[in-house]
Amino acid sequence: YRRIVLAERPRGEITSQCFRLETVPVPDLKPGQILVKNHFLSLDPYMRGRMSERKSYANPQALNETMIGGTVGEVIASENPQWQIGDRVAGMFGWSELGVSDGQGLRRISKDIPMSAYLGVLGMPGMTAWYGVHQILKPVAGKTVVISSASGAVGGTAGQLARKLGRRVVGIAGGPEKCAYVEQTLGFDVCIDYKQMDWKNALANATPDGIDAVFENVGGEIFDASLARMNPFGRIALCGMISGYNGEDIPIRNSRALLTMRLMVQGFIVTEHPECWPQGLSELEVLVRNQELAFRESVSEGLESAPDALIGLLKGRNFGKQLVRF
Ligand code: NDP
Repeated sequence: YRRIVLAERPRGEITSQCFRLETVPVPDLKPGQILVKNHFLSLDPYMRGRMSERKSYANPQALNETMIGGTVGEVIASENPQWQIGDRVAGMFGWSELGVSDGQGLRRISKDIPMSAYLGVLGMPGMTAWYGVHQILKPVAGKTVVISSASGAVGGTAGQLARKLGRRVVGIAGGPEKCAYVEQTLGFDVCIDYKQMDWKNALANATPDGIDAVFENVGGEIFDASLARMNPFGRIALCGMISGYNGEDIPIRNSRALLTMRLMVQGFIVTEHPECWPQGLSELEVLVRNQELAFRESVSEGLESAPDALIGLLKGRNFGKQLVRF
């Protein structure tokens, strides 16, 4: 079967040279193990961080090992009585067409929802949105929430959850097509296109009473624009700073507002809160079944397309959750 390993660490932007496609033999199963055919791989911004050796919340991805990644697929052979052939499973089998496991850390997924959803709105990104909105932003008193990367897997879900809490939700996204989708399909009150010259004025017009809460995915200039409009005792769920993931500087110019507006900023890593996952995921699944939560996917075809799709994700070429179909 085929897999992609990390061949070298990027300097700045990722290039295709960082990866190597390999064909390796299918292993014989030992007692207790299962063999999974992966149908979809999730591509996520955190992968850029793992490719570097820089200090972070997780250890770097090892060179010459299968690239890390979430997957969904189907059991095709089982030496484990708890798993049958045909069972659907979400796991972390990485950039690989097959996976072998003893079942630990795997999630059994339902057959009546398209399996790709378990990598997006019903997986880690959905859970990230749920955690940021419900565990960090919910207690804030005011009404207006700003969410950056609003058309994305995390941002799009976060905005819909905040709307359900009765907030006024203002998104920020790149380009008219993404903004139209954020307003019309995801139901945000307004979406600001940060690629337009006068976007900061548009943000001011969209937040006439200031900003009470921010769900930040981008950092840099976009985060600064929100900081400048924060109301006293506002809260910021600092989820991501994708504008700096290729090593760009992301200075915070309006840091004065942290003091003058007495803000609370909470960075978080969703995988460090496993105690919240059962509740969050079951709430999200109910919403998806009731068609109360919209989501969208960008699917690239074939394992070999993964490097280019990850490069695109970090440049905004994706529109919704970025997946690779095998
Ligand atoms: P998205 O689906 O939002 O895709 C990434 C998007 O980021 C792009 O489509 C692009 O949208 C935007 N983007 C990329 N570069 C820039 C830039 N320089 N300036 C502005 N926007 C940019 O990805 P996810 O939903 O998976 O992730 C969103 C954020 O959430 C990321 O920062 C990620 O690291 C973070 N995250 C954090 C987790 C945690 O536990 N803290 C867990 C999961 C995700 P556009 O075209 O609109 O610019």
